[in-house]
Amino acid sequence: MSFEARIEKRAHANTTSSHGSAQRAQLLSQIGDFLLRHDLAVTGENLLRAHAIVSGADATLARTVAEHECKGDRVTQDFLDRHAKPRPDAEQAVEQLRDLTVQLDRSVLQFGECTRSAQEAASNYGVELQRSVDAASYSQYSDTVLSEDILSDFTRVAHIMLDRTRAIEERMKQGEEEADLLRANLEKARADASIDPLTGLPNRRAFQEVFEEQRERAKEQGEPLALAICDIDFFKKVNDRHGHETGDRVIRAVGQALDKISDLCHVARHGGEEFVLLFCDQDVASATLVLDATREQLSKKRFVDRVTKKPIGEVTFSGGVSDALAHEEMGLAMRAADEALYRAKESGRNKIEREVSGAAANDASGD
Ligand code: GH3
Ligand code: MG
Ligand code: MG
Repeated sequence: MSFEARIEKRAHANTTSSHGSAQRAQLLSQIGDFLLRHDLAVTGENLLRAHAIVSGADATLARTVAEHECKGDRVTQDFLDRHAKPRPDAEQAVEQLRDLTVQLDRSVLQFGECTRSAQEAASNYGVELQRSVDAASYSQYSDTVLSEDILSDFTRVAHIMLDRTRAIEERMKQGEEEADLLRANLEKARADASIDPLTGLPNRRAFQEVFEEQRERAKEQGEPLALAICDIDFFKKVNDRHGHETGDRVIRAVGQALDKISDLCHVARHGGEEFVLLFCDQDVASATLVLDATREQLSKKRFVDRVTKKPIGEVTFSGGVSDALAHEEMGLAMRAADEALYRAKESGRNKIEREVSGAAANDASGD
């Protein structure tokens, strides 16, 4: 039979294969003939190949085999293996998908690490996925029937995942922005909670934190630490004579005066017309000197009510200084400073007194 006649016969067999039982029987006998003629093993793979050849489903293979047969050569198993297109290996495809799943899993894990790195991972994941889709679309299996199904399915799924990834990325970006806003609000709320609104100075709560921190630090470094309390003298009179608002402005002015030495110490409003100061790396004597200088400066000023233009006169404060490390806890150091302040008030005001420590205190109590 000529080469053309064989091809013609196969094409005919192919077009009639789905018709009656006679045609199906003919196709089966042609498949059997082909395998027996070439002494090929009846395996599932060879049956599929024989079907592809005799039915003309794989035109290229049918042509190659026809040319070979026309030369009078036998179609050996080796010839068939070499010329038949590699069958899409389902296991290989599954393996490929598994690898991709592992890659995706890895990306998803990275994605969850933290919002920012997750967002970056999502971008990488998207890029990787796109690359995988591109690669899969042009893979060596793309033109075989089985792998086309797998790949089109995979590509469809991958595209859906890609869209989802982008949506997640967008959501995470929004989440991050919201988190940033929340963080900023939280920081502001924290700052607000530590600041005294009238003077803008740290409040008692914030001072307490600073005190504990600095006390630990001073102990570790072996440095001195001094605590001071200041109280405006005869402040009630200011309120009584000029009103509460003027009183507020006076409190603010004293706060500003003390804030001028905030490069030497931590200053905070303790409450009412009282202020607290913490002098790092300064002993009681040195802290007393610094505070006394501020007291003196302020006492020389003469205040005028900005609104009513009425003279307020002098505004003074008294102070008490204690050794912050000589006491077990902050409350006791405060009490020592407060006792010194009381003595300053008792002995005429507008002055700074130091805590009576050690032997001096014992002598005083023994009198
Ligand atoms: P001393 O010299 O003994 O300290 O006399 P003082 O008049 O200052 O007496 P005291 O410390 O007892 O009085 C403080 C007054 O400060 C009482 C309170 O009405 C007033 N005060 C407390 N907080 C504020 C505030 O925020 N604004 C104003 N305007 N007054 C305040
Ligand atoms: Mg007071
Ligand atoms: Mg007072």
